[in-house]
Amino acid sequence: MTLLAGAFASRPAFARRRRASARSRRISCFVALLAVLVPVAAGAQAPVEYRLSFPEPEHRLMTVEVRFDEVPAGALELRMSRSSPGRYALHEFAKNVIDVRITDASGAALPVARPNPHQWNVTGHSGSVRVAYRIFGDRVDGTYLGIDSTHAHINMPAALMWARGFELRPVTVRFAPPAGAGWRVATQLLPGADGADPFTFTAPNLQYLMDSPTEVSAFSLRTITLADAPRSPVVRLAVHHTGTDAELDAFTHDVERIVREAARVYGEFPAFDGNTYTFIADYTPWANGDGMEHRNSTIVTSQGSIRGNRFGLLDTISHEFFHAWNVERIRPRALEPFNFEDANMSGELWLAEGVTSYYGPLVLLRSGLGQIGDFTEEMASVINGVQSSPGRRLRSAEEMSRLAPFVDAAATIDRTDFDNTYISYYTWGAAIGLGLDLTLRDRSNGAVTLDHFMRALWQKHGKPGGKAPGYVDVPYTMADLEAALASVAGDAAFADDFFARFIQGREVVNYEPLLARAGLALRLASPGRAFAGQVRLLDMQGRPRVLSAAPLDSPVYRAGLDRDDVILAVAGSDVANASDFERLIRTRKPGDEVPLVFERRGQRITAMLRLVQDPRLEIVRAEDIGRPMTDAQRRFRDAWLGSPAWNTF
Ligand SMILES: [Zn+2]
Repeated sequence: MTLLAGAFASRPAFARRRRASARSRRISCFVALLAVLVPVAAGAQAPVEYRLSFPEPEHRLMTVEVRFDEVPAGALELRMSRSSPGRYALHEFAKNVIDVRITDASGAALPVARPNPHQWNVTGHSGSVRVAYRIFGDRVDGTYLGIDSTHAHINMPAALMWARGFELRPVTVRFAPPAGAGWRVATQLLPGADGADPFTFTAPNLQYLMDSPTEVSAFSLRTITLADAPRSPVVRLAVHHTGTDAELDAFTHDVERIVREAARVYGEFPAFDGNTYTFIADYTPWANGDGMEHRNSTIVTSQGSIRGNRFGLLDTISHEFFHAWNVERIRPRALEPFNFEDANMSGELWLAEGVTSYYGPLVLLRSGLGQIGDFTEEMASVINGVQSSPGRRLRSAEEMSRLAPFVDAAATIDRTDFDNTYISYYTWGAAIGLGLDLTLRDRSNGAVTLDHFMRALWQKHGKPGGKAPGYVDVPYTMADLEAALASVAGDAAFADDFFARFIQGREVVNYEPLLARAGLALRLASPGRAFAGQVRLLDMQGRPRVLSAAPLDSPVYRAGLDRDDVILAVAGSDVANASDFERLIRTRKPGDEVPLVFERRGQRITAMLRLVQDPRLEIVRAEDIGRPMTDAQRRFRDAWLGSPAWNTF
């Protein structure tokens, strides 16, 4: 996940504050300016050194000690992050910091000012600052900090204080696990200078450090070496779980199939830093379900076990690994570099997240781990989610993407109208991915596909990488995407029309004829069934209460029903619970008018409910509904849902 326009603002400011090293002072101002725009390893500068220890893991506490040396004159501005890579809302990590002690190298306390909730301004130092604090963390997912007696699950922005002006300094991180705990370290951080100490790691800069979640525990480790692929990348699974070794062995085999299948879309693996990619998994009852992508790793967390939820866990694995190309390296300009001081906004999450959500289940199917029914069910739900949602009247997929800072695990206490005004960019983007893939295949008779589009983006924007690990040098804009589509399709007018209507406009692709080319029928799931509108009902005190906004222009909306109303009767029958309501609607016909009685703020209201046909669609295979499949349909389907044949690893 990713974000917004302010992302670039801090860099020039930081550069002005950056103290020139002895070496860089000798070079011209012109070259110094280039160094700001093009991140380079600042090896000549003293590294920032972190030490993380765990004297009280049972109380969810971690101790952090940091050394800043060669600190330029003036205030040292220490920060806790407000956002985390791949998560676009504000999370205010400073709230969990306690017991901050800031001293010079001799241990003498330094003057500290607090200009805002996230910052400590340190003055009076003579070039060396030592910081120590404790931090509380009790959430195991892809964003927060989770410390307990079984592990330290560390997403760096949630845990580490950093200094403005030190963004390009190298970093050393030393982990000091509790004595006798048997904990090891799983991370995309790079080995320490001598490589011998298994608890000391490095990062070339702050961006890379913050992008490197780390699990310190007695996890199980599995290693896959893809010896037949270029560069022979190594894929590791570090799994903290409650299952058996045999379950993990079988799971590792499944993961290898996914990893290989995803690479077939692009024709190659990314050049992982350290040539290694790490799945960091916490499958424990005390985890929160999540998946978060990073450059050379992902955090996947679930309360489910491999035994109980294998397919669900693999689905997340498939999604997150696809991000190693799409968003980690094929990256929107609006998210590069990531801004840790603000929410991050981008209009391209329909591609970064949504198209990834299309490929996740597609790669599972192509790898033989998913069934066609799983895939068509997922795609039908995506089409339903976009086609019937009232939010489409207000905003495009690009505009929905820009709402991520308000919806991506964002926390507010006031209610929103998102039921009626928002469609997830995951859902809409997956629908765009499906529609674009089928449209390209349809208009080229299978010669051009969405895989070609993704490969074109990879060649131009992803593969060139970054001069410094943690950075992407050729991020894309919306115009770049349209140009890539024009080039792949060989038709600029087509690309212009597709973007104007389906991405920056609010139209939905006409899926029915496109799916028919693959011998799939898109049709009403429940023909003849009456429908009042999708509202969430909760049974309270013997009556169903409306929990969600009535969908715009649905029968319940037109009848005046909305959130918090309590339903008393439908069609003359008393309604005691949600299933009463659903049953009474289902026994009527589309077009029927039935009286609806409900209570609102102490008032009893009677309205007329005009029922409609249930608009929800399903996708079924032609052969399952007795329709003959042509050879052309069979070929179209096999080419789409089968494994592409352009390489063999
Ligand atoms: Zn994602």
